[in-house]
This record gives sequence, structure tokens and C-alpha cells, in this order.
Amino acid sequence: MITQELKERALGAYLGFACGDALGATVEFMTPSQIQQRYGLHQDIIGGGWLALKAGQVTDDTQMSLALGAAILEQQGWQLTAVAEHFLTWLDSDPPDIGNTCKRGLLRYRATGELCDPIRKDSAGNGACMRNLPVVLATLWHADDFIEWSLQQSHITHNNPLSDAATLCLGQMTQHLIQGCTLTETLSLSAQLIANHPEFNYHPYPGKSSAYIVDTVQTVLHAIENTDNFESCLLKTVNQGGDADTTGALAGMLAGAHYGVSQIPERWLAALDQSITTQIQQQSLELLQLAKSFSIQK
Ligand code: MN
Ligand code: MN
Repeated sequence: MITQELKERALGAYLGFACGDALGATVEFMTPSQIQQRYGLHQDIIGGGWLALKAGQVTDDTQMSLALGAAILEQQGWQLTAVAEHFLTWLDSDPPDIGNTCKRGLLRYRATGELCDPIRKDSAGNGACMRNLPVVLATLWHADDFIEWSLQQSHITHNNPLSDAATLCLGQMTQHLIQGCTLTETLSLSAQLIANHPEFNYHPYPGKSSAYIVDTVQTVLHAIENTDNFESCLLKTVNQGGDADTTGALAGMLAGAHYGVSQIPERWLAALDQSITTQIQQQSLELLQLAKSFSIQK
């Protein structure tokens, strides 16, 4: 059933994601000490950064998620070619930024029509993991669909075991939190990830926050485990610098699912590009409704 609480957690995940992207983009590729020198604590959505963004503008993380969500809603289900085509339309829209691995994969699809990239060691960036939230919502009650859709959309650009494991783990964690599991229960999924792939271990936290999926996941898990509210989780994440828009977005996804939309600071929601807010409000509700309609069919 789609309860009010469920809706608030799902919307919290999606808006939290976008807030993390917009907040983190200002300090993307900076080191913690550079951030400290320039901002003290970076805590407001002010734009700028290496992309010279307007305050509230989001980047590829949110835009690719919205493209994936639009493809699912347009098809009212899963159609991988539609997903790839929506990514290409986004690529042609002159986006503010795009990761190299994403670009390479989308250009391969355009040139060959091939939907799956070969397995590659150098595809262990966070670009597939960062855009999977619409799948998380649309498959909320369907573990098999969640795995299949997640891996298929990932492999358009990133076909790598560490990327796959992280995408599934963060997605499942988000699903559990939206369904009301405690943070402690949910963190057992990350313990499983670490048992299967010890490189993800973040005890002690190594302090790297690059776009390498291992660094990204460690940063996000360390932040959510060691904070007790939405705002401090995101501040801890983005002030670590590195790929701060993406770590911020993924931390915002987990923290938003856990704490709910009501715990996102009002100043961040007010700063966010309102056309993005509207799209997210629509998608989060419609993706949940789609997930529920599958439950009735099955
Ligand atoms: Mn980005
Ligand atoms: Mn990034």
C-alpha cells in the first residue's frame, strides 16, 4: 500500500538526491582543506563551482535520473531501448557535465545500437549507481525486477562487477529505508557488500571521495552511519570534496529515504531549481503508483 509515510520517504529520497547534487556541485573536485579555507563549512546551495552553476541548478546525476524515470513512465514499465534513447536525448541537450564513461557508452550505443558495454576494469566509476533511483522506486516490491532493470540500465555505460554490486546495494538499502526499516537493519546490506567485495570496507574510513565507486560508497556509508539527521549527513558528505555532487546526491538519497522529506532543510528545498522539484514530485509519485500496479498484476 502507498501510505503517506511511504510517499514522504520516496519523495525524500528523490528530493534529497537533487539537493545533494546541487549542494555538492559547488565543491566538486576540491579537497577538504580547500573547502575549509574558502567556505569554512560549505552548507548552502549557492551554485558556482567548476561548472559555474546557478544556485539551485543540478548536474548530470539528477538529469540522468530524470531521463531514466521519464523512460520508465513513458513505457509504463521496462524497455531498455527507450532508456538508452532518453539518455541520448539528454546527451544532445548540452548538459552541464557528463562523465567520460557515460559519454563513451552512449556514443557506442548511438554508433552500434548495442545496449550492453563489454565488461571493463576501467568502468568502476559511480555513473551507473548515481542514476538508479527511478528503478529503485518503480520496483519497490519486486526484487527480481529491481536487479534486472538496475543491471541493464547500468550496463549501457558501466559494465563492471564493483559498479554492479554497489548499484544493487545502495538501491536495496534505499528500498528498505523507504519501506521503514531502521538504519541498523539496513546497514546489514552494506555488511554483505563488504563480505563479497572487501574493498568497500569503510571501517576505518580511508577519506577518499573520488568518482571511483569504492571511494564513493565508502564516503556515503560513513556519512549516514555517523550522523543522526539529514542535514548533517549531507554536510559531512559534501565537505569531504572530491566527487561531491555525486556523493552528496547518493547520501541525500539514503538520508532522504530514512528521514523523510520533512527533514530536508527548508532553505535547500527553496533554493532548488523549481522545475526540477516539480518533475521530481511527479516522478516519485508516478513511479510508486507503477510499482503498485505491478504488484496487482503479479
Ligand atoms: Mn554531476
Ligand atoms: Mn560528480
